[in-house]
Amino acid sequence: MSWPPTAEEVERLRSTLLWVHEHSPYYRRLFAAAGVRLAEIQTYEAFRQRVPRTAKPDLVANQRQHPPFGEFLAVPRERFGSLHTSPGPIFIPRLSEEQGGTPVLKEAIKAMGVQRGEVAHVTLSYHIMPGGLRLHRAFEEAGCLVINGGTGASQLQVEVARAWHATVYAGTPSFLANLGDTARQMGLDPRRDLFYRVGFSTAEALTPALRRELHATFGIELFDHCGEAQIGPLAGECRVHEGMHLHARDLFCEFLHPETGEPVDLGGTGELVATQLGPRALPLVRYAPGDAFRLLAEPCPCGDPSPRIVFVGQVGVIRKIKGVLIHPAQVHQVTSGFPELGRFQILVEHRSGERYERATIRAGVIASPAEPDRLKKALADQLKARVLIQMDVELVPEAEVPEAAGPPRFAETMVDRRTH
Ligand SMILES: [Zn+2]
Repeated sequence: MSWPPTAEEVERLRSTLLWVHEHSPYYRRLFAAAGVRLAEIQTYEAFRQRVPRTAKPDLVANQRQHPPFGEFLAVPRERFGSLHTSPGPIFIPRLSEEQGGTPVLKEAIKAMGVQRGEVAHVTLSYHIMPGGLRLHRAFEEAGCLVINGGTGASQLQVEVARAWHATVYAGTPSFLANLGDTARQMGLDPRRDLFYRVGFSTAEALTPALRRELHATFGIELFDHCGEAQIGPLAGECRVHEGMHLHARDLFCEFLHPETGEPVDLGGTGELVATQLGPRALPLVRYAPGDAFRLLAEPCPCGDPSPRIVFVGQVGVIRKIKGVLIHPAQVHQVTSGFPELGRFQILVEHRSGERYERATIRAGVIASPAEPDRLKKALADQLKARVLIQMDVELVPEAEVPEAAGPPRFAETMVDRRTH
């Protein structure tokens, strides 16, 4: 997928819309209610301006009203190949010919330098949800021998990974940390007795601190990946480890300004809106999971021309501060590099008589720093360099920062005292 979209991508989008209109009662009604005539949707601009979005609550509500699949369903049950469920619950039938993200994942696996014949240990859940099985299929197709580890049973998993000489780990970074602890409890040295070389990290934030810790434990090179339960895998890191390449081939992805809905340029931060291309058992058009991504402006030194994205967080907690869209997760990436710091809040003010807005980070301290002024300056410098705005730094005991300001939701992190 390119951004902005190419003419060929818009053409695939148009033929998908015709198919969806013909087969999905939900979209037929939605298009009619919005006055959308498909013959008039000839360009991306027309599509963006005319076709309404589908939010996750729309899908959940419609499946509740018309159980189990809702009016989104576009094919008879005889054509289903499998049934997945994601939290909500949302029921996701799959056509037997739908590849379920495998081509995207194979590309992501190739970008990690995984060779045919390597042993891959998959530790996402295989139960009910699509993640584990999706990754399993993709590693098999990439020529790997795959261990269906699943979740839990850490001691058995360490034994199996050791016995099979697994060189590739796939799952959450926190479960990998758990395997490291388990191995040590078993009297093993994770670097010497386990053989993980590269890791496919997904379903959780891979903070710089966690990446360093896991590298120190296993000597593993981790590659961050992202996706979403309904629309599947989206993007993954290459060996440059600066942003994730948008590998999606069967999705039409838009990145739109969270306030205006206009397409954002490379370098900007936009909300993901995705349309599944081609026939689907349960097609989604302009599906907006509520995730925001920053698009990197520079081409990647690895030579892969696909755009690179950095997950920023849920759109609901983004605020524009001093003209820059800021998500608490970006700030958390910085604070998590300081072992003395825990939860934080960001106060935004525009005092009367002052020309500029003022942003203050109230950083919760969990261990008293030896040199508080030096910590404050180091934090301010890193925020300026990585979040791109100047913030005043105030150190407070972590207990003074509400728990709801913590990750991953950051519900009470932003305290907006601007009057306009
Ligand atoms: Zn690259």
